[in-house]
Amino acid sequence: MKISENKIYDPAIECMDRESLRALQSERLRATVAHVYANVPVYRQRMDEAGVKPEDIRGIEDISKLPFTNKTDLRDQFPFGLLAVPQSEIVRIQGSSGTTGKPIVSGYTENDVEVWTEMVARSLTSAGAGKEDIIQVTYGYGLFTGGLGAHQGASRVGAMVIPMSSGNTQRQLMMMHDLGSTMLCCTPSYAIFLGESLREMGYDPKEFRLKSGCFGAEPWTEEMREKLEELFDINAYNIYGLTEIAGPGVAFECPAKNGMHINEDHVYAEIVDPATGEPLPYGESGELVLTTISKTGMPMLRYRTHDICVLDETPCSCGRTHVRMSRITGRTDDMLIIRGVNVFPSQIESVLLQIPGVAPHYMLVVDRINSTDRLEVQVELTDEMFSDTVADIQKIKNRITEQIKSVVGVAAIVKLVPPKSIPRSEGKSKRIIDNRGLTSK
Ligand code: ADP
Ligand code: ZN
Repeated sequence: MKISENKIYDPAIECMDRESLRALQSERLRATVAHVYANVPVYRQRMDEAGVKPEDIRGIEDISKLPFTNKTDLRDQFPFGLLAVPQSEIVRIQGSSGTTGKPIVSGYTENDVEVWTEMVARSLTSAGAGKEDIIQVTYGYGLFTGGLGAHQGASRVGAMVIPMSSGNTQRQLMMMHDLGSTMLCCTPSYAIFLGESLREMGYDPKEFRLKSGCFGAEPWTEEMREKLEELFDINAYNIYGLTEIAGPGVAFECPAKNGMHINEDHVYAEIVDPATGEPLPYGESGELVLTTISKTGMPMLRYRTHDICVLDETPCSCGRTHVRMSRITGRTDDMLIIRGVNVFPSQIESVLLQIPGVAPHYMLVVDRINSTDRLEVQVELTDEMFSDTVADIQKIKNRITEQIKSVVGVAAIVKLVPPKSIPRSEGKSKRIIDNRGLTSK
């Protein structure tokens, strides 16, 4: 692991005293609430139902009066129902997989792209990036926020950007080697895969110039950090984000590597009890709820992320004052992240229900083999199908595999199992066996 200097992109904001920060947040929250109340019918209706008027929100201390927003709202209002500006003001759409196979999309104004870019620029700077750096972006480019998000931030700090996008391991390593990449942005699992492949391909790690990496978009552990730092001789930093709020860069680690600073001048964070929605104090574990306070295109009021973590407002040795979130330790729903794609068991279920001959009993088994996620979908056949020919059964298997790939967006290994072989449970059925050991739920 290399020694890292403590570089701060925007000290005036990132190290602002908490009282002034709170005043800024209050002002921005008031403006956001007034903006969505005037322009987004769903928000207006929700606030009316809750008996809250924009003028009741005098400052950040009033935030818990506001109603929550959920992923289902993005789905129900797909694609443009949550826009708070005329469509002509939107300059970008990004998206991520939703629960129905339909993506959820987020619309950005020029201001919103700017806010997002700034958040990523702060994240990369914190990981040591500057003008002299060569940043290899190995997150996917496209609707997924990873690629373009990292790209914009890397350009903003004046680095040389290599827009590799994901995949093609040999080429990734060749470019990293030949161009002398100094920073890598990708998912932590793919980074490990790259680190392992490097040796297998006969490269000597000493020939690489990599000094740090920003890894995120999926849960990972301290053990993975150690492994990554050793594989590449780098500093490995965590970066967190979600499409609904902006994309990567909502929160990022500093050299203290003790939680991710949330860009609190743009996004206000709360922790709530996932069962009751009651706000919890800093230091307690619960569901992260985020409110955008400077976005204009599609602002989010109290968005339920379903991510479980702890917030820490104690001072950080790096000098930044923004609150830190811990690693994500679990989810309040059953979302899985498979090779960076959000997967819900309900999506698999709806695929299976459309295929005659299979029973609605299934089990998802997730493993990580050679640092790559492997999803096995075990599906029960009905009695009738079970007695069919091997060719018929193979046909069903192919169909399920294709449908999962096209609806859910991930390649899965489908295993057909005899009728009644998947354990039935009396309570909430257990449909997932996750052997990756990434979360502590
Ligand atoms: P992204 O493009 O940032 O991955 P998505 O909207 O597709 O955005 O997925 C967001 C979800 O990804 C988050 O709610 C969280 O569950 C997960 N995620 C993103 N970054 C991290 C991270 N650093 N650690 C753990 N989980 C993460
Ligand atoms: Zn810090």
